[in-house]
Amino acid sequence: MVRTESYETDVLVLGGGLAALRAAWEAARLGARVVVCVKRKLGRCGSSAITSGGYAVAHPAITPQDSWERHYADTLVGGALINDRRLARVLCQEAGERVEDLLRLGVPFARHNGAYRLSPSGDHSSPRVLVPVHMRGTDLTLPLRQAALAAGVQPLEETRALALLVDDGRVAGAVGLNADRGALVVVRAGATVMGTGGAGRLFTVTSNPVDVTGDGYALAARAGVPLRDMEMVQFYPWRAIRPFKGSRVPIQPSTFAVGARLYNRRGERFMARYDPERLESTTRDIAARGIFDQIRLGQDVEGGVILDLSAVSDEDFVATNLKVIERLQPRGLSFREVRFIIAPEAHFIMGGMVIDEVGRTPLDGLYACGEAAGGIHGANRLNSNAIPDTQVFGARAGRAAAEDALAHGPRRVDDGVLQAWARRVEGLGGGPGPQQGTLAGLRQELQQVVSLALGIVRTAAGLEAGLAALDRLRARLAATPVATAGEFEEVVELECMADAAELMMHAALHRTESRGAHFREDCPERDDARWLRTVVVTREQDGACRVVTRPVDREGDEAALGGATPGQVRRIEGEFVE
Ligand SMILES: Cc1cc2nc3c(=O)[nH]c(=O)nc-3n(C[C@H](O)[C@H](O)[C@H](O)COP(=O)(O)OP(=O)(O)OC[C@H]3O[C@@H](n4cnc5c(N)ncnc54)[C@H](O)[C@@H]3O)c2cc1C
Repeated sequence: MVRTESYETDVLVLGGGLAALRAAWEAARLGARVVVCVKRKLGRCGSSAITSGGYAVAHPAITPQDSWERHYADTLVGGALINDRRLARVLCQEAGERVEDLLRLGVPFARHNGAYRLSPSGDHSSPRVLVPVHMRGTDLTLPLRQAALAAGVQPLEETRALALLVDDGRVAGAVGLNADRGALVVVRAGATVMGTGGAGRLFTVTSNPVDVTGDGYALAARAGVPLRDMEMVQFYPWRAIRPFKGSRVPIQPSTFAVGARLYNRRGERFMARYDPERLESTTRDIAARGIFDQIRLGQDVEGGVILDLSAVSDEDFVATNLKVIERLQPRGLSFREVRFIIAPEAHFIMGGMVIDEVGRTPLDGLYACGEAAGGIHGANRLNSNAIPDTQVFGARAGRAAAEDALAHGPRRVDDGVLQAWARRVEGLGGGPGPQQGTLAGLRQELQQVVSLALGIVRTAAGLEAGLAALDRLRARLAATPVATAGEFEEVVELECMADAAELMMHAALHRTESRGAHFREDCPERDDARWLRTVVVTREQDGACRVVTRPVDREGDEAALGGATPGQVRRIEGEFVE
């Protein structure tokens, strides 16, 4: 008999990063009972705990020359014009209020000469990125964790959600697994918020930590929630693969706004071919493709391109590249003495669950925020727009979920789903487990399949081959025996990874043009006449993926973008002109 632990609450939050924390805190502040179910440790996991903490904001007191309208215009242009306008507008309008909340909680954003230090980057038309003093995500997550706990939030750590519970068309909570205790955890809730993050770990080379495996996308899709823009995967262009072999050290985007250059094997400043105006200081989609092209065309140096810092001052480099300095100092090295080789890594999923302005998904009782939700960033996210996204939409989703739950109360749960999971867990321990290394091998293969099909350069043939390979991997996974709760967890995670990858591949196959982070070598042009549309994938009850497209609502674009037509928008000295 499986041990079952049951909880009843108003709001259930899944995840333990910045979006989940903000949602949980907000819901608890409104008087709701809140349970947070997180795979690892609250506030110490997810991408949030390891980010550099950059927060883009136009705020009257912090960036007096700036405005939310300019931030909004940058976000749309950077997103290649398929952002959900309502969501992008809310992001830019409310990033300021939410950063005030963080400041009140004591988040230490860096200051310089009596003002907040603002980092420039090529994708924002003026400097508007605040960075915490230690450039660590925990500068933000730990104060939020403390606030959430003080407001009465109950954490269930080391507990992964296995499935959403749906009763009569409404989400009624979730079933999870605590592998340490070998217990099924059932949480009945009036409303559920998913802050389960992205899916960087689907790729072989990524900035994301081990727990970011696309679970939220998979669970939501299985429950019938539509996902949008899943083809849009951001590759962070500037990971220093030398001299930091084996560990992840980013070169910060601001470095390119203050003069850093990139050269290929031939000594060419190749970014001139990809963005003649902004060169290296361009958006991430263009930078990643430029660098990746050098690698695949054999113009690389040791698997990447050369970073030239000769035009960057010591002060500018050190101010935003603390992680580099921290690595070099113990070895007694100055950054001037080492040769940096740069290559891209999978970093951020622009796509996610379809949500409205309050984070509500089309499935009753279910909300999503942060990287789990889609639409805000369009086809490419701007530097440091993700963290304000977690705060703005975390707060909105938490508030809406609390109001919803307090109005409806906890729901009945679907016994059928519970029993199915109980049977899977009960079967453990009765037979032999997998051969050593089998599950790790399957994970590695899956990551290779995804990296090939959904990498920086895609083709229809590659995506079709990826989908076929996923089917074969799934069949092998289903035939793999599991004996322990730990192995079961691993299988469940691999199933989620395969599901998330499938959603992404279908979306990428469907978009027969190139836009933002989605580059199709077999249809390399951006096609605004046909493709100012968003791709929406839904998993049908029989498990098949259905793909449709919806036109982007461009209301207000003329005012926001100064009348420039899509495709003709170019930035010259911070202004948008035709
Ligand atoms: C190295 C790095 C640097 C970055 N730097 C910046 C930056 O400077 N500025 C910026 O704006 N953005 C940055 N980003 C992006 C940004 O950090 C993320 O997009 C953001 O933190 C995502 O927050 P989140 O809460 O949505 O997801 P995450 O922080 O990834 O949290 C997801 C949570 O869900 C949990 N979870 C997953 N599956 C389950 C499950 N089945 N059951 C229960 N829990 C589950 C995870 O354990 C985790 O706690 C960076 C990202 C990385 C990786």
